[in-house]
Amino acid sequence: MPATVTRPAQEQIPVLHEADVIVLGGGPGGIGAAVGAARNGAKTVLLERYGFLGGMATAGHVNPWMPNHHDGKPLDTGVFQDWCKRIEALGGMKLPHRQFCPETAKLAAEQICLEAGVEILYHVMFDRPLLNGAKVDSVLMLGKSGLTAHRAKVFIDTSGDADLAARAGCPFEFGREGDGAAQPMTTNFDLANVEVKRIPDRKILQEKYEQAKAEGRIVCPRENVLYFHTVEEDRIHFNTTRVVGCKGTDTLQFSRAEIEGRRQVAQFITFLRSEISGFENARLHSMGSQIGVRETRRVKGRAYLTRKDYERGSKFPDGICRVTYPIDIHNPTGTGTEMVHLPKGDWYEIPYGCLVPQGCENLLVGGRPISVDHAVHSSMRVMPPACTVGQACGTAAALCAQRGLSPAELDGREVKRLMIAQGVNLVEGGPEASAAAPYRNDRSAAVLSA
Ligand SMILES: Cc1cc2nc3c(=O)[nH]c(=O)nc-3n(C[C@H](O)[C@H](O)[C@H](O)COP(=O)(O)OP(=O)(O)OC[C@H]3O[C@@H](n4cnc5c(N)ncnc54)[C@H](O)[C@@H]3O)c2cc1C
Repeated sequence: MPATVTRPAQEQIPVLHEADVIVLGGGPGGIGAAVGAARNGAKTVLLERYGFLGGMATAGHVNPWMPNHHDGKPLDTGVFQDWCKRIEALGGMKLPHRQFCPETAKLAAEQICLEAGVEILYHVMFDRPLLNGAKVDSVLMLGKSGLTAHRAKVFIDTSGDADLAARAGCPFEFGREGDGAAQPMTTNFDLANVEVKRIPDRKILQEKYEQAKAEGRIVCPRENVLYFHTVEEDRIHFNTTRVVGCKGTDTLQFSRAEIEGRRQVAQFITFLRSEISGFENARLHSMGSQIGVRETRRVKGRAYLTRKDYERGSKFPDGICRVTYPIDIHNPTGTGTEMVHLPKGDWYEIPYGCLVPQGCENLLVGGRPISVDHAVHSSMRVMPPACTVGQACGTAAALCAQRGLSPAELDGREVKRLMIAQGVNLVEGGPEASAAAPYRNDRSAAVLSA
């Protein structure tokens, strides 16, 4: 245990907001939540630690949007689609593979939030909730002018890490069963000035990568070099560093991970420039403002989805999000990536109860840290469904604030109906029988890994 200090008690803290709904964290989940709440009539405030929105899509430099489609059609046709259309209108999207410009994604996210009537407060870091029995009365945020308080009827935790839920005393899981190890972190980076046509095929790149690792020129546990084309012809995006053994919720480990991620980036640049054709004159274009965090806490909610539900393609009458993206687990302790695909044509659904945490009466959790196991998390965490899950939270929170209900008292089927009415590609009714085809365990599909 480190030494401790005591902070002065009874400090008077100004209340900056009295809202219907407060959303903590402006990533894909938080954008969906804030717009979803505001469009349904709630006075909504979005609190974000950075000076822009987007979360992993912008601060984490994650790209592209992973596909979450059924029958060739996108499933995330609500707020997520609006965000994409705005990025496209601003010239920041490349179809059909949906690479996007992160800077344009910041502009577009802010525009759609403001147009929906969301009040955004930037540069505030969550400190703690003030509780009133089993309810959150307000959240304390730390900004340039010190601590401020923000009060609401309903709170939505879209911090990615369930920071608010954890501090409010909600039970949660961390990482995989057994050892609690979470998926690794990755510092994403782009190289510009690449002669794309001269890049060797992936087999040759793989051989050179393995040789560089064997001879110590690269020290990285990842099994291959994962790269994507970007919105610009001469720019390549890399999602290939891998930092294991660090928790994104531990101050010291999170900081160490940043340094290790950038150490790996520097090695990759040297390797690519000196050993791989097409990269001889490449230069570092950009990196994430922070290392990408795939997994930390997952709250325990009123419903809980497991790998078995994924395999069965479980459907629910209150399924508020449909997902076809595979199980995609980057080995938490080293090399290898597990990909498990659903049978063609099938999907699974996330029931509303996965967004309603145990242990707090006026809180919803959206984005990636919802009540699912390690395997299902690896599938639903990608940005399109994370945004739709957020939208479901926002929709539910607005209904709760209007009616004076707690999220647990609300009928999730109503949330689903409202989302359908607002354009989300969900199937009315349910549950339906799952397709009978066996599921596929396909490691060779790792090229689409997130
Ligand atoms: C390396 C990596 C590669 C990935 N690749 C892909 C991919 O190719 N395609 C894809 O679709 N998905 C990919 N994903 C998954 C996806 O990016 C995330 O799962 C998704 O962004 C989760 O959305 P979220 O809103 O739940 O969380 P986040 O995107 O993490 O957003 C959380 C937001 O909350 C804010 N916040 C956090 N804590 C606090 C606090 N204490 N106080 C105030 N604000 C706070 C953050 O600044 C951020 O804006 C990848 C993820 C990683 C890490």
